[in-house]
Amino acid sequence: MTTFNPWYAKAVILAASIAMIVIRAPHGQRSRTAVIAKNRKGTLETILLSLAMLGYFIPLIWLVSPLFAFAEYPLRLGPWLAGIAFFVAGLWLFHRSHADLGTNWSVTLQIRERHQLVTDGVYRRVRHPMYLALFLYSIGQLLALPNWIAGPSYLVTFGILFAFRFQAEERMMLDEFGDQYAEYMGRTKRLVPGVW
Ligand code: SAH
Repeated sequence: MTTFNPWYAKAVILAASIAMIVIRAPHGQRSRTAVIAKNRKGTLETILLSLAMLGYFIPLIWLVSPLFAFAEYPLRLGPWLAGIAFFVAGLWLFHRSHADLGTNWSVTLQIRERHQLVTDGVYRRVRHPMYLALFLYSIGQLLALPNWIAGPSYLVTFGILFAFRFQAEERMMLDEFGDQYAEYMGRTKRLVPGVW
């Protein structure tokens, strides 16, 4: 394989990808048992989810095949260390937001039976801590993965998913929880505490 990057560049990407899957797995399993009460997964959402899934898997393809070797560039220490810090922060927040959401979590726009509005823990100051976690993670990937295609793939595809989703999600939550969500919106930001 025509790569001039050290093995540990790949080791970090592999470790982060596995950590993400390990954090989500039990929640994915649990969510399959929680009955769906309302579903707003339309065609657009299906396309966007598939796109984000592809963006997530491209780095794994980079790990095992020479397909993107033409887009390789040399790893530099500064961005690599910053990338690891973003990975750690993103994975921690991913774990916390999953723990706080519990069975209310869905991979798409759905309301569960006995759905409860979560406003505590990492949901106290921002409405989308899990999406913030995924942004931190994908910035980590951009910085720590020295390839022009596999590096930004998740940031770009998840960014598109987020751009089309957050307003639809907030509308769904408003329809479901009414004033309770409106009031929650009034005292929180979307992604970054105190900013937006
Ligand atoms: N946008 C949130 C949740 C992502 S999971 C975040 O980034 O942390 C998406 C699902 O979570 C939505 O379909 C919705 O059913 C549910 N959800 C979103 N915000 C919620 C909240 N504050 N309390 C309970 N469920 C929520």
